[in-house]
Amino acid sequence: MCPERQEVSLAAGDHLAPPKANALFPRDVTAATSTRCPERGIAFKFGGSSLLGADCILHAAALVRDAAAASPVTVVVSAMKGVTDTLLEIAGKLARNDFAKAREAAEHLVVLHLDVLNALQLPEHDHAQVRHELKLLARDLLHETPKRGPVAVDPALFDRLASFGERFSARLFAAALNKLGIVAVPVASSDFVLTCDTFQDAKPHLRQTRERGREVLVPLLESGIVPVVTGFIGATLDGRITTLGRNSSDFSGALIAHVVDAEELVIWTDVDGIFTASPHEIAGAKLLHELSYDEAHALAASGAKVLHPHVLPLAAEHAMTVWVRNTFKPHLRGTRIGPAKDGGAA
Ligand code: ASP
Ligand code: MG
Repeated sequence: MCPERQEVSLAAGDHLAPPKANALFPRDVTAATSTRCPERGIAFKFGGSSLLGADCILHAAALVRDAAAASPVTVVVSAMKGVTDTLLEIAGKLARNDFAKAREAAEHLVVLHLDVLNALQLPEHDHAQVRHELKLLARDLLHETPKRGPVAVDPALFDRLASFGERFSARLFAAALNKLGIVAVPVASSDFVLTCDTFQDAKPHLRQTRERGREVLVPLLESGIVPVVTGFIGATLDGRITTLGRNSSDFSGALIAHVVDAEELVIWTDVDGIFTASPHEIAGAKLLHELSYDEAHALAASGAKVLHPHVLPLAAEHAMTVWVRNTFKPHLRGTRIGPAKDGGAA
């Protein structure tokens, strides 16, 4: 049985800054599941600010655990906030032959992720296993940032470097789920999101991505395993890592939701939903509870930063409901974008 969603009426401008990474978040997440139990499963996409530190990751993992009791869940993760920026800065440093600074920044990122692992406080055996996997990723990252040049810096290198953020965070998120008693595995989207070779802005081949993605993801879901998939990343047909462009993990979320035929995609972020204007800038900005695809599209066209532009067309084509919800306030309902319900938008 699906727990009933708690309906909460929101005051206009009801927007608070997310708590600090080490704050304790409410663990009562019964409202986190959707209004019904989608039989085809749901996809949860977590943005970088929802993954900032062990407490945030465990909190997000608890949202997944509670939803997984009602329906299969596929998770899509961004890099931890700030990590992609740093990775691209590293590529920039390599381009300027600033090898020492690039290496220093890469080593710093390795320590950052190992610190999060320590803070997750996993059982000893799991800790050792995940540490080993993070070290393998670290070795690859450091291999890309040698102490001395020359390094062939091209757009492909930018994408290879940028991909590490999501690869680290997927590993940590799966570990957090395991800690909460959920069987979960990290999945590299580069194993199935097949793209053109326009590095840094690669376009996925939908049909091939869906076919290969189903081969990877469906057996996991059928075995009750939660796949924790890297957002942002794809690969060319000949196996070179690409990215779908900055801030594209919402799009990855929609793509992966489509691959697994999810009925709903929940974009977990650090605001309460979609507003009439930026709540950070305009005091009277109102939260929108219910939007049709067209209304959301019109909002995006008017300049509102709603979602990555490729999310809504894909969701509309497959009648997938998209929720935008606040990870830090899971008792709030958020914004629903989807086929009109009960006579249309609220
Ligand atoms: N981590 C990537 C970026 O920062 C993708 C995303 O967060 O959506 O651009
Ligand atoms: Mg991001």
